[in-house]
Amino acid sequence: AAAPKVAVVGAGVIGLSTALCIMETWPSCSVTVLSDQFSPNTTSDVAAGMLIPHTYPGTPIHVQKQWFKETFSYLFAISNSTEASEAGIHLISGWQVFKNIPEEELPFWSDVVLGFRPMSEAELQKFPHHRFGQAFTTLKCDCPPYLLWLEKRLKATGTQMYTRKVADLWDLHSEYNIIVNCAGLGAHHLVGDEQLFPVRGQVLKVHAPWVKHFIRDGDGLTYIYPGIHRVTLGGTREKDSWSLSPDPGTTKDIFDRCCSLEPSLQEAQDIKVKVGLRPSRWCVRLEREILSQGRVQLPVVHNYGHGAGGFSVHRGTAKEAARLVGECIAALQGSSSRAKL
Ligand code: FAD
Repeated sequence: AAAPKVAVVGAGVIGLSTALCIMETWPSCSVTVLSDQFSPNTTSDVAAGMLIPHTYPGTPIHVQKQWFKETFSYLFAISNSTEASEAGIHLISGWQVFKNIPEEELPFWSDVVLGFRPMSEAELQKFPHHRFGQAFTTLKCDCPPYLLWLEKRLKATGTQMYTRKVADLWDLHSEYNIIVNCAGLGAHHLVGDEQLFPVRGQVLKVHAPWVKHFIRDGDGLTYIYPGIHRVTLGGTREKDSWSLSPDPGTTKDIFDRCCSLEPSLQEAQDIKVKVGLRPSRWCVRLEREILSQGRVQLPVVHNYGHGAGGFSVHRGTAKEAARLVGECIAALQGSSSRAKL
């Protein structure tokens, strides 16, 4: 049978990592990435890229843990290779601090990150307004370099990449056998998913090379995430806001909140403001669907709705999407051999 033609819609971290996983798992496929935007113009480019999971209320915890574990091991191996600086992946240590002791002292991911432990009294002295904290080492992606690294890997496997806005998945039917939908928030229009909504996030990217530890307030709103060249200061979570323009009042608020956690940031230079819309959903939509128009069928694998935690779980969800593409290939081969009989 001819090699199945797979179209992956979307070139954020989910689309690119899913396309790569499909190529690695099913090397006989021909994979094309179609996207209206590529790096540096995706939501994935705005992200801090920290590997600290966000919890999806509609996805079983053991599944989320598996996704995180697979992503952590994948990036840990890159961080430990000669590719680390090009891929923008590095280990980073720091603290998550709480004003009140959290109900759940051990998050589900505490044994996936490295060296998770309660902070000592001496460490807590750095944070006079906080009573409790957790110290650990995790990984961080510098997002634009990581996306470019994924694109380079894809090109090396022969994957084609085209700029194209897809208005309807059926438009791809005559050219491709299987469609993989990694359109992020774009899926709201593309497949009419009313359960998908934006959670606006504004962040500052600053020059402050003396800041070497991450600091995250346990409420998840205020964070300081040092990358290779810039420190990301956050943030906001504004549900149902579609605005991509930076708000100056919010910029000042973020800066003040971060300075109260890390006073040395007063001296930060070259402050740039970025806004992204998290593609949020009650659970990640990761499933196979067969669309039909009369007797014509179009197999689709959905992989979108990663909200605030796309980087933290991307490799795990990409692997599962690649497995579902395998099911589509098997079904196509079954139906073509039946057609011959
Ligand atoms: P996107 O990056 O939005 O990619 C979607 C792609 O689909 C784009 O290329 C777009 O052009 C394309 N597309 C859409 N519609 C169409 C169409 N109709 N036709 C063709 N192409 C289409 N996560 C973490 O794990 N750690 C963090 O520290 C972190 N920090 C964040 C900070 C901020 C401020 C924000 C906003 C997010 C953060 N996130 C973080 C979340 C993370 O950014 C997202 O979960 C992730 O980027 C989602 O990736 P995606 O590929 O699904 O979406």
